[in-house]
Amino acid sequence: MRILEEEALGGSLDATGSAEQGFSMRGSRMFGAAYELMYELLSHIPSLDDPDKSVAQDTLDFWVEAPWNDKARLVEHGRIVDAAAFGLANKDRVDLIGFMLRGEEVLGARRIDECFDAHFFATNFWFMWRSMFGFETWHSAAELRRYLLRFLRLFPDLPTLRIIQSTRYNGRDSIVRPIVRWLERQGVRFDVGVQVTDLDFEAVADGRQAVRRIRATRAGAPADIELGDGDLVIVTLGSMTADATAGTMAAPPPPVQRRSGAWALWERLAAKSPAFGRPAVFCGDVERTKWVTFTVTHTDDRLVRRIERFSDSPAGQGGLVTLKDSSWGLTFHLFHPPAYAGQPPGTQVWWGYGLFADRAGDFVAKTMPACTGAEILTEVISHLGWRDELPALLEGARCIPCLLPYTTSQFMPRAPGDRPPVVPPGTVNLAFVGQYVEIPDNVVYTVEYSIHSAALAVATLLGAPQRVPAAYRGLEHPNALIAAIKRLVD
Ligand SMILES: Cc1cc2nc3c(=O)[nH]c(=O)nc-3n(C[C@H](O)[C@H](O)[C@H](O)COP(=O)(O)OP(=O)(O)OC[C@H]3O[C@@H](n4cnc5c(N)ncnc54)[C@H](O)[C@@H]3O)c2cc1C
Repeated sequence: MRILEEEALGGSLDATGSAEQGFSMRGSRMFGAAYELMYELLSHIPSLDDPDKSVAQDTLDFWVEAPWNDKARLVEHGRIVDAAAFGLANKDRVDLIGFMLRGEEVLGARRIDECFDAHFFATNFWFMWRSMFGFETWHSAAELRRYLLRFLRLFPDLPTLRIIQSTRYNGRDSIVRPIVRWLERQGVRFDVGVQVTDLDFEAVADGRQAVRRIRATRAGAPADIELGDGDLVIVTLGSMTADATAGTMAAPPPPVQRRSGAWALWERLAAKSPAFGRPAVFCGDVERTKWVTFTVTHTDDRLVRRIERFSDSPAGQGGLVTLKDSSWGLTFHLFHPPAYAGQPPGTQVWWGYGLFADRAGDFVAKTMPACTGAEILTEVISHLGWRDELPALLEGARCIPCLLPYTTSQFMPRAPGDRPPVVPPGTVNLAFVGQYVEIPDNVVYTVEYSIHSAALAVATLLGAPQRVPAAYRGLEHPNALIAAIKRLVD
């Protein structure tokens, strides 16, 4: 088996840098009990720190050692808001419950803001939901409905985030490196630096098509791969972290330029058959899908201790802090040290993001993509009300901003057929995986979705699709549904 990868193994689950240069990751991750296939997969992968323990067990142990208990979930004008009060009016409650019980087909390609009144978008419930999962008002209503039903069990813990689990280290150190090592031991070959540009098909029996050649380049030179009978091809369509750029404390991230193969490959395939989906629905409006995330490294603990005191939680246990009055829609969280394998003792790392890349800041009069790391940090510290202490709190900090052009592309409103099925009709040896395939009831922007797509791809191509469980269907769990509705009307 060969895996072709143009950039770095692990894709969105990246983490780079050093204490001196500043650590950096494009995304940080929250998991939970709903991630059934992810835990099943990780239960077979030995952890790097202790090979007698699986990565799944290590993650659950870490949850017991350092659980989240958010006491500052929402902050406004530098003060902690009572997030237990969802702030829903009766009309919002009726709209929300009706929305969850409605069929997905009724929603079609409608946007979220077509389904609720303006008041709903000013509630604590919406501020917590949108910041936790990355929803914007222009995103897919059908996807929001899937999320509400998938995460029913979260409703009572929405302000405290107590049921959220995370890996001991970042995604690369805790998930990618152990999986790569395990796969290498199974004889899997990794070809890094290879960009797949196209697939050549040949007609076979019953009017169906087989992939006979993978078109690829390595360092600009052709690196095509001929396929024989019995070869299977599994392709990741698109990528939410394609074409990302990183800035520094003193420079904003360079502007976005199309260079990766992820979207170009899907566009070439989609031009060959309508059964391969419509990539433009997801990658065609960068202004609507881009975000800036940022990773902050300190070699002293001044700012982190200040945040710990403010949020009444030790680093790594306070969960998400959303600055409700931030025009950028800022949210951040402190990592439990060490967040990187090998992170020097005394070094602190935290991470954040803004939902609105097109708005000027409240203290820094620029949009987030135009800001240096120092300016982003200034905006966060000013929102917390500590402007007087800025010089001391900024001293020695390294804030690395990262511009992600497609990070919410998977949430764009979609209609049937925009996302292809995992195994496209009319093909015999091809499957699609990732965030842009259609899997009934499951939710994108999750590692679970990608793993589900991979499980379906392998099982279907090998003739045993029934071996992959269906996604959790909230409507079939009346106890969870009633508990969630009860919390909404409390
Ligand atoms: C800011 C952020 C926060 C997130 N938070 C969470 C969270 O809390 N919980 C959660 O579960 N998930 C979260 N996610 C989502 C999760 O990280 C992704 O859904 C998941 O990692 C996607 O994995 P993937 O392998 O399908 O795709 P990708 O990560 O996009 O990987 C695809 C890989 O394929 C390579 N590739 C693509 N096309 C080609 C080609 N043509 N030739 C060669 N190589 C190619 C790419 O270089 C890439 O390495 C978050 C993501 C981000 C960005």
